[in-house]
Amino acid sequence: MTRKNVEIIKPDDWHVHLREDAIMKHVLPYTYKNFKRALVMPNLNPPITTLKKATSYYEAICRNIPIEIKFHPLLTLYLSEEISTTLLSALSDHKFIKAIKMYPRGATTNSELGVSNFRSYYRIFEAMEKYGLVLCIHGEVTDENIDVFDREKVFIDTVLLDILKSFPNLKVVLEHITTKEAVEFVSSQNESLAASITLHHLLINRNKLLSEKIRPHFFCAPILKSEIDRKVLVEAATSGISKFFLGTDSAPHFIKDKLSPCGCAGIFTSPVTMEYLVQLFYNEGKIDMLEKFASINGALFYGEPTVGEKVKYRYRNIPMKRLKNIQIENEEISIFDPSIDLHWEREK
Ligand SMILES: [Zn+2]
Repeated sequence: MTRKNVEIIKPDDWHVHLREDAIMKHVLPYTYKNFKRALVMPNLNPPITTLKKATSYYEAICRNIPIEIKFHPLLTLYLSEEISTTLLSALSDHKFIKAIKMYPRGATTNSELGVSNFRSYYRIFEAMEKYGLVLCIHGEVTDENIDVFDREKVFIDTVLLDILKSFPNLKVVLEHITTKEAVEFVSSQNESLAASITLHHLLINRNKLLSEKIRPHFFCAPILKSEIDRKVLVEAATSGISKFFLGTDSAPHFIKDKLSPCGCAGIFTSPVTMEYLVQLFYNEGKIDMLEKFASINGALFYGEPTVGEKVKYRYRNIPMKRLKNIQIENEEISIFDPSIDLHWEREK
């Protein structure tokens, strides 16, 4: 690695929303060009709750990937009453289904069918532990009495801790962590617990969202936290510790649904994630840890190979031009723009 060039194994995105139909067609290229694998979330409407639905979604994704592109979509099943222990036994070592995703009911987009009584799924967790299946968790309580900025911490204390104590060998990913408490908690647990971190939680804090003017394009779930939290997340991501890896949570919504009296949570980051990450790691003096965070740690946790194609990024003195919105028929999707000059680009 020379000073202004970076080469790493092609990264993986361990948490992405590709949606369906026209949106999927437009957003998928940003994922298959930038990443070798991506773990695709199941919160469609209706959600992916069965093997049959997962198979047809997988096929739909594959139909939109050009034959010359070496990209592996990996899927998750939405934890619901439709998941049986018999199904779980068929999923151990499945070709493309790599995890079960648990949404607390109402936590984010299309989570109305999510879990409200966690203990009622303990027999499922027991089977998952037995078959070595990964449980991905949106770790926030949804109780209206709990402040929105405290929901991750309260989830850890009241839900996650009990799951981990009951199933110490269950492989769990606490997804898109946002707080100092979450970093400390994940670090304190055994190797069965890991955490994904997004680009946006590494780059911006809640002041960017709420102070001076409100910026609806920065609204996401879990909501952005304080600068102290952001700094701890950066420390975790750049530490090289194998428990922390990239999951972008890139989540496209039409602008009309973001800029609305009842705006959606989610930020579309896939087109710029890697370039901003390179810049962040470089500026932190931790560029040698980038490959671990983006290309190795997640693959090791999910039991996937860590060899293969490499990608290069190079520094440019003149910042990159801001990317234009994506046009889909009469609607538009905006691309994450943290108002930070971007000086890195991928070498073609
Ligand atoms: Zn998500």
